[in-house]
Amino acid sequence: MIAYIGIGSNSGDKKKYIRDALEKLGMIASILQCSKPARFAPYGVSDQPDFINIAVKCETAFEPLALLDELLKIESDLGRVRTYRWGPREIDLDILLLDRMVLYLPNRKNPLIVPHPDMHKREFVLKPLCEIAPEAVHPVLRKTVRELLDDLIADTKG
Ligand code: ADP
Ligand code: MG
Repeated sequence: MIAYIGIGSNSGDKKKYIRDALEKLGMIASILQCSKPARFAPYGVSDQPDFINIAVKCETAFEPLALLDELLKIESDLGRVRTYRWGPREIDLDILLLDRMVLYLPNRKNPLIVPHPDMHKREFVLKPLCEIAPEAVHPVLRKTVRELLDDLIADTKG
């Protein structure tokens, strides 16, 4: 299965958190491609430090729920402390796309929704993703990553 994963950090040594997350991701998946790290203003709650985000393309044999568990484990191994929604985070690993799969499993302790429910609203997700996968298709919105990013930029310009 091809997985696109978004990784972000906005607390502590952000670059090191991202490096460490990549190293751990490399132990559970084959990393095929990785965007440059990019800096973004925080989303939702603005009174907090900037984020650094990257997008990664990898091949993994894990089933989706097992992959999510592995990513959450990487977050806790790296010492992520959960505060409030959209609050500062040491490290965040999100499943953005899994092949052309559509999954809606909201009623679990750790819900899983694929494509990631907010990916099309977040420049910090789409920009790095567009660098490595402009033609990847969002199977629900039926648009490419490049189209989603163009739409988002057009929207924010009003
Ligand atoms: P976000 O990354 O959306 O800002 P969190 O990292 O705090 O928020 O995520 C909290 C929960 O989101 C996780 O416990 C996980 O179960 C759930 N979740 C739902 N869909 C996904 C997905 N596609 N990738 C990662 N986490 C997801
Ligand atoms: Mg997350």
